[in-house]
Amino acid sequence: MKNSALYIHIPFCDHKCIYCDFYSIITSDNVNSFLNSIKKEISYYSEKYNHDRIFTSIFFGGGTPSLMEPQYLKEILDNLKNNFNVDHKAEITMETNPGTVDKEKLKQFRQIGINRISIGIQSFDEDDLKFLTRIHDKQTAIQTVNNAAEVGFENISLDLIFNLPNQTKGKWIENLETALTLPIKHISTYSLILEPGTILNKMVLNGKVKMQDDDYDAELYETTIDFLNSMGFEQYEVSNFSKPGFECVHNNAYWKYKDYLGFGTSAHSFVDGKRWWNYTSLKKYISEVELNNNAVMNSETITNEQMHDEYVMLALRSSGLDLNEYKKRFSEDWISKTLPYFNLLQEQNLLTIESDWIKLTPKGYAVCDEILKNIL
Ligand code: SF4
Repeated sequence: MKNSALYIHIPFCDHKCIYCDFYSIITSDNVNSFLNSIKKEISYYSEKYNHDRIFTSIFFGGGTPSLMEPQYLKEILDNLKNNFNVDHKAEITMETNPGTVDKEKLKQFRQIGINRISIGIQSFDEDDLKFLTRIHDKQTAIQTVNNAAEVGFENISLDLIFNLPNQTKGKWIENLETALTLPIKHISTYSLILEPGTILNKMVLNGKVKMQDDDYDAELYETTIDFLNSMGFEQYEVSNFSKPGFECVHNNAYWKYKDYLGFGTSAHSFVDGKRWWNYTSLKKYISEVELNNNAVMNSETITNEQMHDEYVMLALRSSGLDLNEYKKRFSEDWISKTLPYFNLLQEQNLLTIESDWIKLTPKGYAVCDEILKNIL
């Protein structure tokens, strides 16, 4: 039986944040039709892909899944469990935004079986939150984390964004310090990226906002790694840190190149070397599922070369390249050819080579993209 992952994209949001390029909509008109479509899609894929695999994680992403009623997610969860072999210890994550859940609602999410919560806080600084057009303030963010812990979530993650315009190093460290006063086991930190088509991008192009430069971004990133490592949060991917034993099972499935099935608008799937993705528009998604029981917009079969490069990239960005696993999948030519460069990186303290494992150091994570460009 293969270990695989399940992803559900819930596209509904309260409003559109200025920096966000995820597909999300702010009207709830089609909430019920969407639920029916998801159920149909689940049933369609279970017939094809359930026989040889066990699903070890379920991830509700978005959008804002925590906007939905717990009963809504329960129906999806029950459907998944009835249609797929879901491991009884599966990690079941829900992305949550402060301002969309009170303690009672969190309690109900816990009761329906969500056992990991990933809270999109982004910043504890009131000015940053206003700039990002988040709907919550610092106090609501803190309260949400504490409420989650009080109703029984042991596995709590939060997201923070650094290198915001005018964010000083001191302010960023304050953010990290505040996060670590809370009962969390995992932190994801992302640098603010300018995505084409976002409101923020327009603001920058119009000269209303000035982004900070790349060197400062790198400095904040290295500060983050040093700080979180010193506080017992181990880095296991370029942007992700956890207490030992609390690495995200679901994201690790992506990074270890395991299969996954995705349902809902814009969701991607990757099974047996084939990748496909759904229509992004909610209306199109619903009408396609109505017609065909699936909403595939396009697909690709991964070539051997693509597979190799994706595998190496994902491994080096996360817990490293397991050479035994690598040799089972690919010929050793590339490793032999690249070894002198790996040795050089080891001398520069950017990477460690142990008998059957090649892993970036914290300093190496900071220049991961450059390393990947040189080897792939
Ligand atoms: S809440 Fe999240 S998904 Fe929705 S618009 Fe804001 S950043 Fe995007």
